[in-house]
Amino acid sequence: MEIGIVGLPNVGKSTLFNAITRAGAECANYPFCTIEPNVGVVPVPDERLDFLAKMENPEKITPAVIKFVDIAGLVRGASKGEGLGNKFLSHIREVDAIAHVVRCFEDPNVVHVDGKVDPVRDIETINLELIFADMETVEKRIDRTKKQAKSGEKQYLEELALLERIKEDLEKGIPVRAMELKEEEIQKVKQYFLLTSKPVIYVANISEEDLLSKKEGELLKKVKEYALKEGAEVIPVCAKIEAELAELEGEEKKELLGEYGLEESGLDRLIRASYRLLGLITFFTAGPKEVRAWTIKEGTKAPQAAGKIHSDFERGFIRAEVISFEDLEKCKSQNEAKEKGLIRIEGKDYIMKDGDVVYFRFNV
Ligand code: GDP
Repeated sequence: MEIGIVGLPNVGKSTLFNAITRAGAECANYPFCTIEPNVGVVPVPDERLDFLAKMENPEKITPAVIKFVDIAGLVRGASKGEGLGNKFLSHIREVDAIAHVVRCFEDPNVVHVDGKVDPVRDIETINLELIFADMETVEKRIDRTKKQAKSGEKQYLEELALLERIKEDLEKGIPVRAMELKEEEIQKVKQYFLLTSKPVIYVANISEEDLLSKKEGELLKKVKEYALKEGAEVIPVCAKIEAELAELEGEEKKELLGEYGLEESGLDRLIRASYRLLGLITFFTAGPKEVRAWTIKEGTKAPQAAGKIHSDFERGFIRAEVISFEDLEKCKSQNEAKEKGLIRIEGKDYIMKDGDVVYFRFNV
């Protein structure tokens, strides 16, 4: 699961991405930490993991992680091959969701590619490029389906009608994710790999002054209004401060956060929001060797969740012994939870819940 960071030049993408890679470097014992320069893997902050680690005092603590990919190079005209053009668009095709960074800070030393800071225009510029690219994909598909539809087969006629509808909406400037589609149509549309069908979060890069004053600036307000129409979330961050925060740990980090009156960093909020956007949840395994957070898709059943740990666990799945984090939190130890009868036995049809602490029983 990957989130692609996009945005026009000079909006603060690299600054934010640097904060991401530094935050990732902190969890150096994580196996995925060494990857290409444009990929950053960060731990997902989770107080529940910290609690379980205190309870078990394990040899190793392993957080869930999320992967960000820095997709630089989008400029006006990319869909027509300007800048890195198509290469850029193919990178977007590969990610599962988009974090779209927009500039909401004024700074005379940082030029804006279009002369003036205007985040809504910036969002529209990029969204339009993605819409153009999708239109091209859809038009090609229409040509092909038209030929197939000559046979008169219902399946092709229906597909053609759907494609025509999507094209009309794209022409109106509506991204696929905001279109009114039925469940089966959504499934169908997935096969077209359209760029504007990917879920998006807008990351509003605000100024230090706005961060300090806590007042919602005009530019941020406009981004929020825009995002609301799409049902998208907006995460305000100040990339410059995030870069500083990522250098710090523990008390020092808390101190700097305190100076800005913040509980947690914008990056942590972005990580959490991205996790939600991807429809991901966490379950835990907790023992003296390792306390670990595992990532699964919402709706995953117990055997498949067990398969995340090891394929043998899925193949030989017998049952899962499950306790919700909330129940375990009230106990001093897993033994106490057992004595109180709080641990449930669940079978192969059990749908995992966020925060489940699990012990899988399996045949080898
Ligand atoms: P990118 O082209 O989108 O990757 O943008 P960069 O991260 O390289 O940032 C462009 C310029 O804006 C750099 O000079 C940054 O130092 C500056 N910048 C980034 N974020 C902020 C911010 O939050 N406040 C201010 N004042 N400058 C920023």
